[in-house]
Amino acid sequence: MPLPDLLVKATAAEKTVRALSAVTTCLVEEARMRHQTAPTASAALGRTLTAGLLLGSMLKEDETLSLQFLGNGPLRGIFVDANAQGEVRGFVYHPRAHLPIRNGKLDVGGAVGSGTLTVIRAQSWAKEPYRSILPLVSGEIGSDIAHYLLNSEQIPSAVSLGVFVRPDETVVAAGGFVVQIMPGASGETIAQLEANVAKAKPVSQMVREGATPQEILMQVLDGFGATTLAESAVRFNCRCSLDRVLGVLIALGKAEVEDLLRKEGQVSVTCEFCNEQYTVGHAELESLLGSSAQ
Ligand SMILES: [Zn+2]
Repeated sequence: MPLPDLLVKATAAEKTVRALSAVTTCLVEEARMRHQTAPTASAALGRTLTAGLLLGSMLKEDETLSLQFLGNGPLRGIFVDANAQGEVRGFVYHPRAHLPIRNGKLDVGGAVGSGTLTVIRAQSWAKEPYRSILPLVSGEIGSDIAHYLLNSEQIPSAVSLGVFVRPDETVVAAGGFVVQIMPGASGETIAQLEANVAKAKPVSQMVREGATPQEILMQVLDGFGATTLAESAVRFNCRCSLDRVLGVLIALGKAEVEDLLRKEGQVSVTCEFCNEQYTVGHAELESLLGSSAQ
């Protein structure tokens, strides 16, 4: 049984270092099952879901975050939404995209290709979301997120993300960490962190060996005497519902719904984020027509 999914935040060196780590094996496996992703697609989606949660945990209560990778590789696109409550959802355009193993690793960079990363931060109280579009560094996700944090948020960060997929396609380990250098960090602190990050094992290996998020942070912050600030559960959760589907149908308009009713007798709608399928039957469509007929 994998460890329960968990995210841990810590600080070190008199708050000049901020670090976050998450183990996300269960939710990445859930995403794989929902979307029936092939191994390379599972790794790409799993890394992005984990990045969404790590960045999402830095948001304010009423903010949401979207990560959108668009590339010319076989995956075409990865879309992830996360919030500050530890909830994440996501999908890829081509779930069966898979490439040969490269240098002993799943070739996520090849599957994404070259393109752009768009990060959207939306606040419930703000009219316009904050949007940042950057060219991809490698398509490997971790380095692209680090590039975003440095260029758009002005925070030098090391980002490591990993997903281990078994030959039978199940995800048996997933997780990641972000270490950030905050204003006032000494040269010594920065050098020590760089050395720690360089010698850290791949995060998918650490999780596979049973490391908890705290243990991952202990390796990354080795020699710092870090303080754990918070621990929170993380999960795959989509807020779609039959009510929302009905709302979309109402928005289509009476003529459209009448047309569907006549031609199909029922409507099936699939949520692209979680692959949940909603079927609206004949009777429901008729009552929808009644309720929208004014
Ligand atoms: Zn959904």
